[in-house]
Order: sequence, then structure tokens, then C-alpha cells
Amino acid sequence: MAYKEPSQQRSYQATWMWRRRLEWIVKNGPCQWCNTGLDLRVVYKNPADKTVRVAAIWSRKEEDREALLSKCVVLCGTCAKSKRVEERQPKHGEVGRYNQGCRCDPCRDAKRVDMAAYRARKRERV
Ligand SMILES: [Zn+2]
Ligand SMILES: [Zn+2]
Repeated sequence: MAYKEPSQQRSYQATWMWRRRLEWIVKNGPCQWCNTGLDLRVVYKNPADKTVRVAAIWSRKEEDREALLSKCVVLCGTCAKSKRVEERQPKHGEVGRYNQGCRCDPCRDAKRVDMAAYRARKRERV
């Protein structure tokens, strides 16, 4: 794997942090979605858990690191991208998702509730 020379001086610390990251990826990889072994990265399973940037995890002390990494998963570049797209979408059970064309039960319920509220508002105005 090619190692790009960082613009700053490559310090001893950067090297062991990079190795630590690589070791974790090897241990927890390959991609947990599609099993690819290329272009792997560490991402939070739930973006709400992201209290510390992934890049900053590796310099933490061991117990912090383990706590943070237990919320992370190894994904390839492609899956990490579709995960981000998915996260930006409205959740199932939200009207926005129904409006995007989803017709699953929670989304249809959300739409029904929204329509009922809309009709109620309209009725009040008349
Ligand atoms: Zn993948
Ligand atoms: Zn849905």
C-alpha cells in the first residue's frame, strides 16, 4: 500500500498511529457490508455517536480507544459513501421518505398522520 508523505514532517507518532489504525482495520475488516478488502476505512456505525473524529481516535489512550472503536465499523469507500447518503435521507416513518417514493408501512402511517393534520389545519382555517 502506498503511503503518502504528509506535508508536515513524518513523526514517530504519526507512524505508530497509522500502524494502529491499520492493525484495527485488518482485525475488523474486510468491509462489513460487501466484504471488499480494498479502500477500507473506519466509520461510526451511528453518526450520533461521533463525539471524536475517527482520525483522532488513534492517539487516545487504550481504554478510550476501545470504547470509541466499539462504535465503529470497517467499510470500503463505496459502502461508506452509500452509508452517508442513506444517513442524509429521511428515516422510514417520516413523511419525507414517503414523498421520496417509499411505501413501507411506517412511511404510509407517517403520511396518513400528516394528511390528517393537514386536513385538520385546513378545516380550522375555513
Ligand atoms: Zn463495501
Ligand atoms: Zn419507508
